[in-house]
Amino acid sequence: MTTNDQIRETIRFVLEDDDRGMRAALTPDSDLDLDNKQMNRELIKRHEQILAKVDRDDVLSQDDLALIRDANEIHVNDTLDLNGHHKEGLALEEWLANMIELDKETAMQILEQWLDKDSHTPARVYRALHTLWEEATPDGAVSRPAFDDEGRCLKCASKVLFADVTDTVLFVGEEIVRRYPGDITNRNCVRCTYPKQYPDYEEYDGGSLRRANRRLSGTRRC
Ligand SMILES: [Zn+2]
Repeated sequence: MTTNDQIRETIRFVLEDDDRGMRAALTPDSDLDLDNKQMNRELIKRHEQILAKVDRDDVLSQDDLALIRDANEIHVNDTLDLNGHHKEGLALEEWLANMIELDKETAMQILEQWLDKDSHTPARVYRALHTLWEEATPDGAVSRPAFDDEGRCLKCASKVLFADVTDTVLFVGEEIVRRYPGDITNRNCVRCTYPKQYPDYEEYDGGSLRRANRRLSGTRRC
């Protein structure tokens, strides 16, 4: 059997196994409500379409792969191998990881995690990575926070930040009559964003930052 045959076999198994459980919940004496029964029926139908593709050796869509991953999750998580398919489940998960398209955020996390395993990775490599990330998101829409709860930069752990604060000021003619304290916007780590100016403020970080303290946002999810 080639690897592909094994993977196909595992896909068949996990989908059929999932379907068996869902069909069992469709019997009249099952206490599953009607909506969920309908969802089970639709999912079984989707699985059957995928199984037909697997039999024909057709290309699987990204949606197909996501559904296979969902069905396989129980076997991946079955670390005690109670169902006897943990090893195949892991092999399928690894195969899926190579087949499922990466979004930019996931790609960044993978790169950061791997760079972080090498204690000799210079900080400029992370900076290069984040530059590419910013190029890839021209609207600046970074959904993840850049700072932790204590206001430390997640990339380099520095707590020295430049921040713009926007107050809303009520003018009447030329006169300011009221000032509404503003929100902090556009917070930037000085060390990462303005490295030339950082030495002026370095003392606020209490001297040199220990590399061990560096916390990467990328290691927080998954
Ligand atoms: Zn920083």
